[in-house]
Amino acid sequence: MARIDALVKSGVVNPEGFYTLGGRLAIDFANSYKRIGRDREGIASFDDLLTFMKSHHLLHEDEASDLHMFHFQNPARCQSVVETLLTLRHSFRSILTDLSQGWPLNPDFMEVVNGQLQSFKSFHRIEPGEEGMELKTVIDEAGPEKLMFPILHDIAAFLTSDHVEKTRGCASEDCNLYFINTSRNGRRRWCSMSTCGNRAKVNAYLKRQEEEG
Ligand SMILES: [Zn+2]
Repeated sequence: MARIDALVKSGVVNPEGFYTLGGRLAIDFANSYKRIGRDREGIASFDDLLTFMKSHHLLHEDEASDLHMFHFQNPARCQSVVETLLTLRHSFRSILTDLSQGWPLNPDFMEVVNGQLQSFKSFHRIEPGEEGMELKTVIDEAGPEKLMFPILHDIAAFLTSDHVEKTRGCASEDCNLYFINTSRNGRRRWCSMSTCGNRAKVNAYLKRQEEEG
């Protein structure tokens, strides 16, 4: 596990092995198909989804155990949330490919996101926060569908932000991770220096050695 510890330290993944280098939830969600320490789909089950949400601090432990119980009673409804999210992620990844290549946003995808957002009712609440009272938006949904809301919300926020033009795919051919290029000179090419960046440097070095030798 030494490798994952080093990657957690450099902000590449969280302790559950999900990538955190995207720069925001929407992009980390797009990258969630891969998980360090696993050679299959990162979100292969409802429990994986709970782990993804907990490890991104989007779900409290008690909410997670309620949903875990809910899963025993109603596995079909939970499975359908997982499938809806995986379908959404699939379309979102192809949107990110378009955006990273400078293509405009496909309006069909916007409609999909709008349609799913429309099914959530929310209300406002005053709650004590860290710095006094805070006005919070609460989702009026206790079932597993509530897991979709923060993801949908951040995808919508992403699509309306200047991150759209800063979307990049990792320059490494076999990587397929996305990130938001917020580097000051705009030249970040790899998902992270600790993984693809270093590998590219080493490869370039070996190639030079070969040519010189
Ligand atoms: Zn990469």
